[in-house]
Parts: sequence; C-alpha cells; structure tokens
Amino acid sequence: MKIKFILPALTEAQGQFWRPIKYSLFPPLGLATLAGYLKSSDEAVIQDEHVERLDLNDCPDLVAIQVYVTSAYRAYEIADHYRRKGITVILGGLHVTALPNEALQHADSIVLGPAEEIWSEVLYDFRHNILKKRYFSNVRTLKGLPPVRRDLIKRKYYFVPNSLVISRGCPHSCDFCYKTSFFRGGKSFYTYTTDQALSEIDTLKGKHLFFLDDNIFGNPGLAFSLFSGMKGMGRVWQGAATVTSLQNRKLLQIAAESGLKSLFIGFETLKQEGLVRHNKQHNRTDEYEKVIKILHDYGIMINASFVFGLDQDDPSVFKAAAEWAAEQGIETVTFHILTPYPGTPLYKRFEKQKRILHKDWDLYDTRHAVFRHPVMSSETIETGYRNAYRDFYKWTSILKSAGEKEKILSACRHIAYTGGWKKIESVWGILIKLKKLNLAIPPLERVLRGDESGKT
Ligand code: SF4
Repeated sequence: MKIKFILPALTEAQGQFWRPIKYSLFPPLGLATLAGYLKSSDEAVIQDEHVERLDLNDCPDLVAIQVYVTSAYRAYEIADHYRRKGITVILGGLHVTALPNEALQHADSIVLGPAEEIWSEVLYDFRHNILKKRYFSNVRTLKGLPPVRRDLIKRKYYFVPNSLVISRGCPHSCDFCYKTSFFRGGKSFYTYTTDQALSEIDTLKGKHLFFLDDNIFGNPGLAFSLFSGMKGMGRVWQGAATVTSLQNRKLLQIAAESGLKSLFIGFETLKQEGLVRHNKQHNRTDEYEKVIKILHDYGIMINASFVFGLDQDDPSVFKAAAEWAAEQGIETVTFHILTPYPGTPLYKRFEKQKRILHKDWDLYDTRHAVFRHPVMSSETIETGYRNAYRDFYKWTSILKSAGEKEKILSACRHIAYTGGWKKIESVWGILIKLKKLNLAIPPLERVLRGDESGKT
C-alpha cells in the first residue's frame, strides 16, 4: 500500500505575517507517529506544505491529512483534489474533531480526537475495503506506541528536527484551549513512561532537544525521573510549562541540571480576574515575578505568551504587557488575540452571547479579532496586538530587557537569542532556501548553553 501523509500550510504561514523561520521549526511528528503503524511492505511519504511544495500529481492508495483551524480550507481543497482522482482521503486533527460534519463533506473517513489508539483499525479497515465514516477511541495510552518514523522526516528542512512529545494533552482545561475539545470522551492527559522517553531521546542525533509537550512538568513524577535520566547526557533542551508547575523547586533544579535552557510559559494576562474568567486560575499573577526571577537565576530563558482581548482588557493592556515583559528581562514573547476555536467552551459561550463575528476559519489565527469585545473594536485589538510586538522587539526594548540581567554574559546571551530570533530574517530566508537550517543548530546550542554556570 502507498500512503501519503500531508500537513497543509496554515493560512498565517502566508501573506503579510509570514516569517519563514517560524514555520520551519518543527517537523510533523503527529503524522510520523501514525506512520509507525504501517507494515514494512507499505510505502509512505510525509509532505509538509510549510517547507516544501506539495506534489499533487501522484496517485497513492490512501491520503491522510492533518487539519488545523487555519489550514481547514486548504486541507479541504487538497482532499477534494485527491477524491476527484478516486483516491481515498482520511481527515483528522483538531478542526476535524471540533467540526466533524464540515470535515466529512471532504473526506471518505474522519478520525476524531487523538488517532494513535484507533489508527491500526483504520488501516485494517481500509485494506479490507470496510472503511467506516468516523473513527474515535476513548482508550488513551501511549504504552506500546510503535517508534515514530523519523526516517520519513526531512531533517534538513527544519531548524528543530530533534523535537519530541512525551505526553498528550494537559492536566488543565482553560476555556479557550483547543485541547479541551480534542481530548473529550477520554483521558485528557497521559504520558510516555520514563524508559520510552529516554529511549526516544537516545535515537536523536546531536545535543539540542525541544519538548513540544504543553506542559513538560505536567506529570511531576515522570518529569523528575526523566530529568534525572537525562543528567550527564550533555543535552540542551527547551520546552513549555505552566507558572504553577514551576513552584516545585526540586523539579526545576533537576530540570536545569539535565540541560533545560528555555521555557515557553503561558502567562496570558497580568489581571487575575481574566485568568479566573477563562478557567486558568492555576496561574497566579502575584507569582509571576518570583517565577521569572527563579528561572533566570537558573540560567533558563523565557518565552512568555500573552492573550489580548479578554473581557477585562482595555486599550492599555498591549503597552502594559510589552513593557512588563521587557522590565522582567524576558527574552522572547508571543502575543495572541483571544480566539474562540470551534468546539471550545469559549466558542460555545460567545456563540450563545451572539459575539462571534464570522466563521471564516482562515482568520481564526490569533492575529484577528473574530468576536465582539465589550469595550474594544476589532481594529483596536488588532492594532494593539501589532504594536505590542513592535514595542517589545525594537532594539531599545531588547537592550533594556537584556540590561536587567545581572551578568554581562547573560545580557549578551539575551541579545543574541532575541536578536537571532527576530532580527535576522534575511539570514533565515537564505538558510531555508538552501535547505541548510542545520548550520544554525550549533550557534543555537552555543547561545542556549550561555555561561553554563547555572547561576547567571
Ligand atoms: S494550561 Fe495551556 S495547554 Fe493546558 S489547557 Fe490551559 S492553555 Fe491549554
């Protein structure tokens, strides 16, 4: 059997906001995981439209497409194309799970929720010509997961080929998060065993690792044994965590000793009432500055994420967030406009309140305000969002933020990391064009290592 896995390009990966490097970071691990269930006699290919032009002239036996909200229209276009050629198409992913009836108009079959536990059955049914319209499994475990087919990943197309995910979902349920609907009907947080995680790490060449888990500290027992097992491996790694999970100092210390160098943290807002409103009260705004200080003391850099457009927000929030992040010496930020993803509790609430402005999924990209806000127009929110980015990443702000560091070496590392990410677009463009992103990995590792003293 010939099977083709496709990751269609997100809409925001084109047009005025397109930054090639942002969409050349991580390979499509979800699809490589599903490829692990194939027989050795099967032929498989993975195409990621963010990094390569799709070959649509081929004729595989089966096409499987992963669909996100802002890639939905493109995914449907590709699916329709293959179905016109008589090729069976299966759609799955976040958007398909949120809106199965919409997806079914473009697919022979759909998979709802996480696909791992049901994928063998889907393949069996396809081989025996008894494919069902919908598949769903409420069995949620990663035990016995076959090895991820990393041989199908074109490593040189990605800046972070050594990305991995050792858990699924998240122990929390913030009302704007798409996880809430994706994992409905079964466990919403489950993990690899420590041995599974360590064996996967062993297969990855080089030093740098990026854990794509929503919260690498989400299962403290697993995290502790994993980080203990990684000590002495000489790895440098990046990941994501919640503010609350970082209260565990023992865990943080072992994470730092195992090579943790930067964390993505969803601060979301500086207003506690906004967090409570969105069921993210596990974040405590009064703990933010303490957590930042501890991380920086360990030499761990921070990518702070903020959401604009919460009901409590007013036009002052954009400048306030950008300034606060710079004052804290935060290295990078990611700003988002609150987006009611279909299927989430937030979407249902806004729809009931008749606050959804339209259902053009291409604009559900966290760069557009697609809902009515109590005091701000969509234009105010979108302009404020763009200005926050401009303000945080201007050189004066980067230098001011780096100046918050106690050591010169830490300040230099901050400037190199932030400047490298946001200020050398043409260099990234050339490396991507030449398919030489691997050349940027050693400098990244050097910057991440910093002074390696732990206390910076
Ligand atoms: S903590 Fe993060 S990943 Fe978890 S539900 Fe909230 S937003 Fe989603």
